[in-house]
Order: sequence, then structure tokens, then C-alpha cells
Amino acid sequence: MFQLFRKNRMWRARPLKSRYRVVIIGGGVHGLSTAYYLTKLGVKDIAVFDKGYLGGGASARTTAIIRSNYLTPEGIPFFDQSVKLYEGLAKELNFNLLFNQMGRLDLGHTDAAVYALRMRTEFNRILGVDSRMIGPAEIKRLVPSMTLREGLPYPIIGALYHPPCGVIRHDAVVWGFGRGADRGGAELHPFTAVTAIDRANGRVTGVETGRGRVEAEIVLNATAGWSSDVARLAGVDLPLTTHPLQAMVTEPLKPFLDKTISSANLHAYVYQTDRGEVVIGGGVDPYPSYSMRSALLPMEQLAGHTLEMFPCLSNVKVLRQWAGLCDMTPDYAPIMGAVDGLDGFILSCGWGSWGFKAAPAAGRNIAALIATGNTPDIIKPFALSRFHQGRLVNERAAAPAAAIH
Ligand SMILES: Cc1cc2nc3c(=O)[nH]c(=O)nc-3n(C[C@H](O)[C@H](O)[C@H](O)COP(=O)(O)OP(=O)(O)OC[C@H]3O[C@@H](n4cnc5c(N)ncnc54)[C@H](O)[C@@H]3O)c2cc1C
Repeated sequence: MFQLFRKNRMWRARPLKSRYRVVIIGGGVHGLSTAYYLTKLGVKDIAVFDKGYLGGGASARTTAIIRSNYLTPEGIPFFDQSVKLYEGLAKELNFNLLFNQMGRLDLGHTDAAVYALRMRTEFNRILGVDSRMIGPAEIKRLVPSMTLREGLPYPIIGALYHPPCGVIRHDAVVWGFGRGADRGGAELHPFTAVTAIDRANGRVTGVETGRGRVEAEIVLNATAGWSSDVARLAGVDLPLTTHPLQAMVTEPLKPFLDKTISSANLHAYVYQTDRGEVVIGGGVDPYPSYSMRSALLPMEQLAGHTLEMFPCLSNVKVLRQWAGLCDMTPDYAPIMGAVDGLDGFILSCGWGSWGFKAAPAAGRNIAALIATGNTPDIIKPFALSRFHQGRLVNERAAAPAAAIH
């Protein structure tokens, strides 16, 4: 018989204690991933607090494209580690994550764009990431439903082909990490907003929540679009601006597209889900805002740009449209690690429009930092201090979904 309710809950509701070793603010994919890897390292006394339901922030709104075809010597190995962790994650969490590594084409429509894609491809290859440049004939063979726009403005003259790119079931990732963290002993407390961060003698000492005060040795800020507000509770200024990012999905169609397609020139990315729906997204809204409402203009623009690549979709209906918040850094790279001058306060933010793919690697390395006190080499370049030391990690050409603002 159809089972309406699970016999065993995914995670347990537990009473709030007055003291934990580690408090994680934010129960999205990053907070839960970090909690999971902490339990794997044997760390006890962990609590995750979210002001809403678990995974209800950007993690609920992501289009969940996972890839590692980044640009910098810092970004490529980090995102590559994350893709590799994702490849084994369903088995590790014993949860079907529906990870479909369909491959991706980043389209080049101008000589300048092709030059930049070629450079990115070479950096990928040098660092062991499977990427190669392909021309129109192979593009047509891989994606027969796409027009190459011959004789039109912005013809498709080349593409960076990245076979390991995939799409994953985002809520399953969140639930899998949540269940794994709970089974490992971490406490998950949804509907528990953190309203203040207590400090004394240059270190964090705890947090105030809507349900009372909690002492903590370590406080992790994993609140994405809300990160700068939460950091300010600890007196820390972050170089972030929060922007909405919008996406939409069409009615289901017969399978016609088995690659993710991204065009920076046409400001849109497109893929077809296992259910047949076409997911369409682009760049963040050009103004900072905390609004999570979708709007007609971005939908019109995304639809228009998609039709420039796929005129075959002209009579297809849009079913849903949504928006989520992105915490954008000046260099389009994340911020991970400790904060100089405030012991015990750790950051995992600046995830912008590119953070879902990073959750396993970020969680694992932040957990190692918390467990050992040492920052793993792979995340050292992403420290907050890079902004005042002038050591930016410039991922602007490779991190955004399909457009550069
Ligand atoms: C439309 C869209 C498409 C995207 N597509 C992709 C993609 O294809 N690939 C990719 O890699 N990335 C993508 N991203 C980005 C990705 O979704 C995010 O970077 C990622 O989900 C961030 O995860 P998180 O756990 O850091 O944040 P979130 O999932 O936002 O979780 C943060 C949590 O913090 C909680 N919180 C905030 N303030 C407080 C407080 N004071 N107290 C307690 N809790 C608090 C919130 O309720 C929230 O649940 C996309 C984002 C959007 C919006």
C-alpha cells in the first residue's frame, strides 16, 4: 500500500541544549555537509540552526549543475575535488541523488569568447580536468536540436566541452547530508533563528537564538544570501552583495537534449531534466536585493535568449519560475576559513550562483579545519584575508551560470 508517512524520520527533533562545541548557522547544503563531515571526523556536540526549514534557502532554488571547468589554479582543483566527491556521494550517503553526468557545452560566439574558452580548456587539462574545445560539426552531433545560428548575429563557432558536468537532485543532496549528520550524532534544529553572536576576549562564546542562549566554542556562518548580516552580528564586515537569481522550468517534453548548454554571450543556460522539463537560468539580477520574488522581465529575457539557441521550444509553456539569493564576492570565488582577530568564527560563504557544486569539498575541508585547527591547503587561497592582501582569485569568467555582471 502507498506509504503516506515514513516510519523513521529523516532526522530527529531533539531538545535544545545550552552548550555545543560547534554551532553551524544555516541548514542549507553547506551547513549540513559540514555537519556530516564533522561527524565523520568524530567531532561531538554539533548543532545546526536554521531560521526556516532545512534546505529552504538557495539550496531549494538551485538548478544544481555540478562541474569543475573553472579558470584559476585555485578554483579548478577545489571544484574538481567536489565533483569527485559527488560521484561517490549517493553510495556514501546510501541515498539516490540522481546524479546524471550528461556533459556540458560552454558556447563561444565570437573570436574573443573562443579565445577565453580555449584558455580555460588548457588550464583544465593541465590540472587534470576533462575539458576540450570542439567545433561546429561536433557541437551539431552532440546537440542536434540546437541551431548553430549560421548567418545570424552570435553564430556558435566553438564550445568548451566538459564531459563530467552533471545535474543532481538538489533536495536529495540536502536530505542525504541531513540524515547522515543526524545519524552521526549532530543535532538539526530548524526554525531556530540566530539573532546575536556573543564574543569575549577576541573569540566567539555562543549565540542567541529565538529559543534561548547557547554557548559554543566554534560558530560557522553558512548562511549564503544572509551571510553578511550574520557576520555583522559578530562585528565582521564581509565584501559581499546579495543579489536575486531567477530560473524557470517548462512543461515536460520528450527527451531532446542530453547536455547542459551555457552561453555567456546570450546570457542563458539550458538543460532537460530526467522528467523532460527544460530548466532555464541566467545571471543574477543586476541590482542587490533580498527579494525572492520572480519577475516577468527576466523570464521574458531568459525565454528570448533560449529561443535564440532552441527555436524548437517556441510553443512550449513555462510551468514555474522562482528566485533565490546569491552572496556575490568581488572575484566570484567563495570565502572559506577562519577570521583574523575573532577566534572560533569560521566562514563558508560567498557561494554566489555557483555554490551547490562545492558543498562536498567545502564541507569536508571546513570540517577538517574545525576538527584540527589547521586550514587544508586546498581552501587556503579562499580566506577572507585575500581581499585586504590583494590576492583575489578571479573566477569571473568561469563561475557565473551564464552571464558576467
Ligand atoms: C536560481 C538559482 C540557481 C542556482 N544554480 C546553481 C547551479 O546550477 N550550480 C551551483 O553550483 N550553484 C547554483 N546556485 C547557487 C547555490 O544554490 C548556492 O550557492 C547554495 O545552495 C548555497 O548553499 P548554502 O547552504 O550556503 O545556503 P542556503 O541554502 O541559502 O542556506 C542558508 C540557510 O541559512 C539560513 N539562515 C539565514 N540567516 C539565518 C539566521 N540568522 N539564523 C539561522 N539560519 C539562518 C537560511 O534560512 C538558509 O536556509 C543557484 C542558486 C540559485 C538561487
